[in-house]
Amino acid sequence: MLKEKLKDYIDANVPIIYINTYDDNAAEEEILEVTGRRKVWEWNQMYGHLKRKEVEKKEISNVHEILNADCTLEQFLKTGVVEKEFNRKVIMIKDIAFYLENPEIVALFKNTCLQIESGDLDTVFVFISSILKVPKELEKYITVLHEEYLTQEEIKKEILDFVRENSIGNVYDKTLEQMSLAFKGLSVLEIDTILSLAFSQEGELNESALKLVMEQKKQMIQKAGILEMVSCEEEMKDIGGLENLKRWIGNKAEVLKRMKEAEDFGVELPKGVLIAGIPGCGKSLNAKASAKLMGIPLLKLDMGRVMGKYVGESESNMRRAIALAEAIAPCVLWVDELEKAFSGIGGNGGGAEVTTRLFGQFLTWMQEKKSAVFVVATANDIMKLPPELMRKGRFDEIFYVQLPKPEERRKIFEIHIGKRRPQDLGKIDISKLVEKTEGYSGADIEGVVKEGIERAFIKGKNEVSTQDILTAIESTHSLKEIMGDSITKMEKEYKSRKFKNAS
Ligand code: ATP
Repeated sequence: MLKEKLKDYIDANVPIIYINTYDDNAAEEEILEVTGRRKVWEWNQMYGHLKRKEVEKKEISNVHEILNADCTLEQFLKTGVVEKEFNRKVIMIKDIAFYLENPEIVALFKNTCLQIESGDLDTVFVFISSILKVPKELEKYITVLHEEYLTQEEIKKEILDFVRENSIGNVYDKTLEQMSLAFKGLSVLEIDTILSLAFSQEGELNESALKLVMEQKKQMIQKAGILEMVSCEEEMKDIGGLENLKRWIGNKAEVLKRMKEAEDFGVELPKGVLIAGIPGCGKSLNAKASAKLMGIPLLKLDMGRVMGKYVGESESNMRRAIALAEAIAPCVLWVDELEKAFSGIGGNGGGAEVTTRLFGQFLTWMQEKKSAVFVVATANDIMKLPPELMRKGRFDEIFYVQLPKPEERRKIFEIHIGKRRPQDLGKIDISKLVEKTEGYSGADIEGVVKEGIERAFIKGKNEVSTQDILTAIESTHSLKEIMGDSITKMEKEYKSRKFKNAS
């Protein structure tokens, strides 16, 4: 655990320990717990001075000792740090990344580290930041600690400690199991906060408390900003056609559901699938239905949010997204519009370099992945994707999704009419609709069904007829008409690359 490593490094007098985390509070609490007889001071940009920190029953109280209310980091490093108050001290600095872009500050830190190394100064710096920025000049002196997540067993222990401390009656084994699974990916502080909230609202840790835990967790993941926990209502039966893809996913779901048994048998854990194809043909639907079928959470990676504005921020965000997904595993990690995330690879300029590095990070992870994170990547335009991504060993399989064939269109009509007007399904001539919708995508079909139903309602009818939907079809253009040649081109490309047909 982070705490143990932190203690070892402080005891070993490492000059700078850099904790790469989003959870400042949890990191601060851990520092205060492990520093033993060393006092902890904080230099903070907000108050521009130093405060001494102490722990009292885990609560952090700022002790009024202020050295100099206007002490800048530069001044402090030039003169303050050598004062005897800082002997045998831990100096904590949050949000340091910005300062480490300043060569003067870097030089001052280097000088201070030299003094620590030579034994002239007995001080340990602890940087806490969500952005990892290690200047070349300080590499030798910095030891990086990444945020670590609790294992399910450690989470169970946290829950049981909470139960004991609050004299809560019995917690059923099943609830304990489900709750500890739900807490994966959260910090001790977050777990404690949610447990307190659930307990104060429910009075015990039961099924309703578990629901609250799930809702809170969703929010906390949202707040962290890079991953979104998506609710999955869609099931495989809501997808018309794409039988090959559905069958393939069904097999992987079986392996993930019986993971232990499968591994003992020699089956490898699935890595994931890349689903490419034109818009509106069920790629996203498949990502959602996969998670539902596997009975595991769906996390959506938003590449737009991964890209940060500071140097090193994007890589740090990506590392965090991967670590969080691995902590929550088993889960489905959905990377939408993969081509947008990784376009511009290999190009020149700062932006392209960052993208290339992120891409490398993602590939290495995919290649070496041993965790039960099933990646579903979706892409509209495969031509924009770098070929390395398509090499064996990254994804287990690459499928392409075409415009639905007549039989698939029939199923899609049945699904969408059945969802909204099941009473009219038997009376509507679906064959006629199928005939008139050559070149329509699944989303187009859903669109004309919705419009047809709305038409019938506005006309004051009490049922939806074939004609209502046919009129809607006549007033729209198919995706094939809109996209023209590019669809044919794309389909040729998929075939030449020998991707599997999802249908
Ligand atoms: P995009 O690349 O634009 O995100 P996509 O291929 O991911 O497109 P989806 O979001 O899965 O498309 O589809 C949009 C909507 O169209 C779905 O929510 C669903 O209602 C409908 N749809 C598309 N394909 C199918 C299908 N095969 N069966 C049933 N409904 C479908």
